[in-house]
Amino acid sequence: MLSVQSLQVQYGAVHAVRGIDLDVREGEIIALLGANGAGKSSTLNALVGLAPASAGRITFKGQDVTGSAPERFASLGMTLSPEGRRVFGTLSVQENLLMGAYSMRDKAEVKTAFDRVFDLFPILRERREQFAGTLSGGQQQMLAVGRALMSNPRLLLLDEPSLGLAPKIVEQVFELITVLRKQGVTLMVVEQNVSMALEIADRGYVMASGRIAASGTAAELRNSDTLQAAYLGAD
Ligand code: ATP
Repeated sequence: MLSVQSLQVQYGAVHAVRGIDLDVREGEIIALLGANGAGKSSTLNALVGLAPASAGRITFKGQDVTGSAPERFASLGMTLSPEGRRVFGTLSVQENLLMGAYSMRDKAEVKTAFDRVFDLFPILRERREQFAGTLSGGQQQMLAVGRALMSNPRLLLLDEPSLGLAPKIVEQVFELITVLRKQGVTLMVVEQNVSMALEIADRGYVMASGRIAASGTAAELRNSDTLQAAYLGAD
């Protein structure tokens, strides 16, 4: 479904991603792991045209999408729910969600997208008129994921979806990921919560200093020394 070859991301002199290869197959849950600053967010952002990819090739559903604008990715079915929630606090829940559907022309399609998100997150339906800034952290996270789902993605990239949430809500976030997979969404998830991520993922990649330090099935990674090393300051 997604194939990434020799991807590099540079911010001026900072070389955040130094030539990585990865593959995502339809229906998989992929964990992207690694210590702070390893280059995970830069990778996800570059995959949807939001960070500067200085080299490499990205193929999505057989099409070369390298260097495409973010709108193109959304219309092809690949969407990012970014780190830090980034919801618009002074817009209502409904308005925030609508922003995720900007590439949809058909009103009926937008309504179906709303219904789907509200069915997944009934609390957002209840609070749809409320300013997003008045939601709890967990609800804002749901809103960020909901907004990404509005474009009806086939591949959803989630950057730290459980960051800063209470343990019970974290469990709900992981449950949601498995529900989405059952609904036919393929997922790539950046997570600090390594053990929970490897519980739900099929495979994973471990990044260290902008490179892939290890990859394999979730079971292989659980027992990998490289995984531990990547978190013990190998960065
Ligand atoms: P974290 O979990 O802390 O977000 P990460 O693995 O996602 O870490 P990135 O956020 O991709 O890592 O950061 C990789 C490197 O790129 C870091 O050294 C970071 O300081 C740098 N970096 C990230 N974004 C920018 C930017 N917009 N401008 C300059 N440097 C950046």
